[in-house]
Amino acid sequence: MWDLLVRRARLATMTPGAPYGEAPGVGPCGASGARLGALAVEGGRIAWLGADADLPAGAAARLELDAEGRLLTPGLVDAHTHLVHAGSRAVEWGERLAGATYEEVAARGGGILSTVRATRAAGFERLLAESRPRLAALMADGVTTVEVKSGYGLDLETEARMLEVARALGERLPVTVRTTFLGAHSVPPEFAGRADAYVEELTGRILPAVAARGLADAVDAYCEPHAFSLAQVERLFDAAARHGLPVKLHAEQRSDSGGAALVAARRGLSADHLEHLSPAGVQALAAAGTVAVLLPGAYLHLRETRPPPVAALRAAGVPLAVATDLNPGTSPLGSLTLAMNLACTLLGLDPAEALAGTTRVGARALGLHDRGALAAGLRADLALWSLEHPAELVGRLALPALATRVVAGAVHHAPTR
Ligand SMILES: [Zn+2]
Repeated sequence: MWDLLVRRARLATMTPGAPYGEAPGVGPCGASGARLGALAVEGGRIAWLGADADLPAGAAARLELDAEGRLLTPGLVDAHTHLVHAGSRAVEWGERLAGATYEEVAARGGGILSTVRATRAAGFERLLAESRPRLAALMADGVTTVEVKSGYGLDLETEARMLEVARALGERLPVTVRTTFLGAHSVPPEFAGRADAYVEELTGRILPAVAARGLADAVDAYCEPHAFSLAQVERLFDAAARHGLPVKLHAEQRSDSGGAALVAARRGLSADHLEHLSPAGVQALAAAGTVAVLLPGAYLHLRETRPPPVAALRAAGVPLAVATDLNPGTSPLGSLTLAMNLACTLLGLDPAEALAGTTRVGARALGLHDRGALAAGLRADLALWSLEHPAELVGRLALPALATRVVAGAVHHAPTR
């Protein structure tokens, strides 16, 4: 007797091999001859999957779900967000549309520092209340695992509060939240012109306190001339290693600073953005197996014209993830399926690569090897869509399609579709 049995589903397993994966006895997902599948859950994990017609005799479950031929995928993984924050930066966006550059807006006290002011002023409950609807939007779009960064506090008290809010969201809502310490997002005003002293504060005081309280699963930084240099990021990564925390990096978004090669040399989880990535950076990521996280929402919202070198990354075998980068300034994007579409229409991925980037590869970008595909033994994080072909999940613009989310075997129905 299983806990849950999903029957008559089109299974996009997202296991390597076929573009959308292939379940035993079913045929490649999306192919014309593919059979309908079934998937059983026991103890929060996938216990069996295969053709519906091949279910063992007498198969039964405490709860049975008839998918009626709809598409079943792994629950989606959003591997890069800044969804915990206070305030909005839509006014600045209007200024940028009128011709101001990102750097000019930042120089006037806008940009990241305006969100820092708003976030420092918000207490725990307000920060939670402002952030929760953003996470709910991602969940309503099929997300079952999400990464949330700090980085709008830039002092110990607020950085810790952001991470506590992220942890609380993961405890109160049916979703896995992985937290990342991004104290090196920007130099705070009280350290203006003294970036080295701020890095000293980060490595000597803030990161040790965050690590001691178990608030972070990873460490990230913003490596750009107007933020932190390679040498400063190296010091931060040394401190992360002392606390046993894996690293990732905002790299090569606005310039080729060599950040991707640095995070690859540290066997980091991911290098994110990468619009200005060099051929040497591509090779470094490939050699290390570090994931390239593509963030097409920021590319769109900043009206960038130079996309990341997707063809070179693909040719080198670098794993490609896709994430929302959900943040108030450069990517106020609350839909991971729309991010997948933008990764194809703007950056050159194909639909199967985009879906792999929010499932199997997205999980890898977070160092999670127990999810991101449909296979026996993996966590039963699932998304059932009112769609038939997996390409439909990518080839639409923000048309809601989620019918049911399953988180570690627990069923959560979406509003009727
Ligand atoms: Zn980011």
